[in-house]
Amino acid sequence: MPDRGAVAALKSVPIDMPLPVDARLGQLERQLARERKARQAAEAIAEAGLRALYESKRSLALLQRITDRANDSDTLTDAVAFAQAEICAEMGWDFANAYLVFSMMEAVPCDCWHVANPSHMMPFIHASRTTTFQRGVGLPGRVLANPQAHWIPDVRADENFARREVAIACHIVAGCAFPVMARGEVVAICEFFSRKAVEASEPLIEILAQIGIQLGRVAERETARETLLRDAQHDPLTTLPNRVLLHERASSAFKRLGPDRCGLAVLVIDLDGFKAVNDKLGHDAGDVLLVATAARLRDAIDGTVGGESVSRALGSERYAGLERARRTRATLARTGGDEFVVLLENVTDDALPRAVAEALQAELALPFSIGRDEVAIGASIGIAQSNPTYGDYDAVQRDADLAMYEAKAAGRAMTVTFTETMGTVVRQRMALERDLRGAITENQFVLHYQSIVDLKSGLIKGFEALVRWQHPQRGLVPPGDFIPTAEGTGLIVFIGDWVLREACHAIARLHARMTWGKIDPPFVSVNIAPQQFLQPDFVPYLRTVVMETGVPARCLKLEVTEGVAVLDADRTRRVLEECRDIGVRVALDDFGTGYSSLSYLHSLPFDIIKIDRAFVAVMDQPKSLKIVHTILDLAINLGLRVVAEGIETAEQQAALTALGCEMGQGFWLSVPMEEARAFALLA
Ligand code: C2E
Ligand code: MG
Ligand code: MG
Repeated sequence: MPDRGAVAALKSVPIDMPLPVDARLGQLERQLARERKARQAAEAIAEAGLRALYESKRSLALLQRITDRANDSDTLTDAVAFAQAEICAEMGWDFANAYLVFSMMEAVPCDCWHVANPSHMMPFIHASRTTTFQRGVGLPGRVLANPQAHWIPDVRADENFARREVAIACHIVAGCAFPVMARGEVVAICEFFSRKAVEASEPLIEILAQIGIQLGRVAERETARETLLRDAQHDPLTTLPNRVLLHERASSAFKRLGPDRCGLAVLVIDLDGFKAVNDKLGHDAGDVLLVATAARLRDAIDGTVGGESVSRALGSERYAGLERARRTRATLARTGGDEFVVLLENVTDDALPRAVAEALQAELALPFSIGRDEVAIGASIGIAQSNPTYGDYDAVQRDADLAMYEAKAAGRAMTVTFTETMGTVVRQRMALERDLRGAITENQFVLHYQSIVDLKSGLIKGFEALVRWQHPQRGLVPPGDFIPTAEGTGLIVFIGDWVLREACHAIARLHARMTWGKIDPPFVSVNIAPQQFLQPDFVPYLRTVVMETGVPARCLKLEVTEGVAVLDADRTRRVLEECRDIGVRVALDDFGTGYSSLSYLHSLPFDIIKIDRAFVAVMDQPKSLKIVHTILDLAINLGLRVVAEGIETAEQQAALTALGCEMGQGFWLSVPMEEARAFALLA
């Protein structure tokens, strides 16, 4: 604005009159002052603009650095730690802290913090690292209740600032906090504190919000990864940890054991009767039963080990690291269809695994209601506890498995604890089983033949085929060393098939080699295990073998023990009749050693009995002689033919002949030998 005095002076001067010098000078000076003022104003505007531009450029660069790191980070805490250091350095904050948020209800400090200069700051840092804030309480609580950046210009004047006392003691003046957002929810909160006053500004708040979004992307990725991992490590039906997670947890627990390797126990639980439920009520019912079983097992473990310690299948793994205490911890896993495993860590009481097993058994003893059905199942449980002899977790679990199989074999709802002796026996059996399988595929069996002689004439009537295992290391293994295992594992069916075919071929070859004229060609007698004999298609199979090998049916005899009748007397009767129909005769082997040989003789259509060598061996005693006499009388009355086994002396042969025993077999007559030598005896 031109000044009024000057204007008045100008007006009083005639138009074309030159101004006096003084007036002119004054006029110019005033003009100059006006221009300077205007220039300074313009410069101030320009400088403010430049400064804002500079600051927004630095803020953008900060955001860019944090975004870059967020893109590379695998964990939220890594990205947050980087952001804390960058923001403190860039904006001059003294302390930064972070919280994880659970269910939008509470903010738990996650031990991720940054301090520029810790001196005089420790009490506030400690309070910040250890306080959990509920929704609405304190600075983090305010962010939870209203997810945006919150500013405290002066902590001394703030009513809702839980750490006010300690903040004042540490000379803290200002604070701010902003949420880390993922899928519209607060997943974490970052807070910053300064000993200087810090003004809140729109651009600053905007940048913090952006940083919160960038960090949230890391949380989203982390959650997605956790979900994937959880799916890969949990059973979808029961949500329990699966075999993978169990193994991971158990292996690392084993590595943490002290030099005495004590403190870890494994319970392998296999349900009894689950298959029957599945078959009878269908798979959906089976699934329901498994889920209900899992819940009961969990309850039982809660009751014995303590609820807190049972790892919750879907609980947050992030918590786990914060509260890993040295107390007994139990993991229940589903490791197979109807198989569960309980891993016990930090076991200090040796009686605990057994107590847990008892609690599990008790829970399963009550029936389950599945729809309108009531079903009863049980469990076979094997327990193994770590000790200095174990080199890794797998070995402990293997022994628990062995104990479980022993429990299964012992009947329903049994618990067996593994012992070293059990281990030796079972391992030998398993090694034998493995070798036997190999022997079958490698064809390591041979047959020896022992002649069966007409006691009166001394002529050979036939041969008993006796199997041996030509073991590559152990040499010739007698059947007593492997037949029981072969029977126990079902492998006897494969071995027996080979024996039958081989014996039929051998005798058919023998028949073909010689002319027999009037005498009966020799027979072959083949031992048949009960499982083989009771196979549903045994007789059609027998007929096929007879046809394929060309052996005359009357020259083939089968030897079975009374075990067949014990297993299934009705079926045995039918098979015996059908064998008779095709012309194959059957002998009752080892007669007299079982419990009920006599009763079977009456009820089952056997053709021959073989008196066990136990009676023959003691025939010099009058009582035994009487027994043999009685057996022979009975057999003759029933129209059965008789073979005496185990004749080892001339006296035995003479006594048996005197009693009217038709045939005999034994070392005195001939030991079992290879085919060629045995058959050569005929000449
Ligand atoms: P087994 O059927 O009672 O066979 C007779 C056994 O008594 C044979 O033993 C034979 O060597 C033995 N022996 C024969 N004469 C005498 C004697 O005078 N004194 C003594 N002390 N023993 C004598 P091996 O060959 O060791 O067979 C034992 C058992 O193994 C057989 O008893 C039979 O139950 C079973 N076995 C043998 N081969 C087979 C087979 O191919 N299949 C099945 N399932 N079992 C077989
Ligand atoms: Mg026999
Ligand atoms: Mg016998």
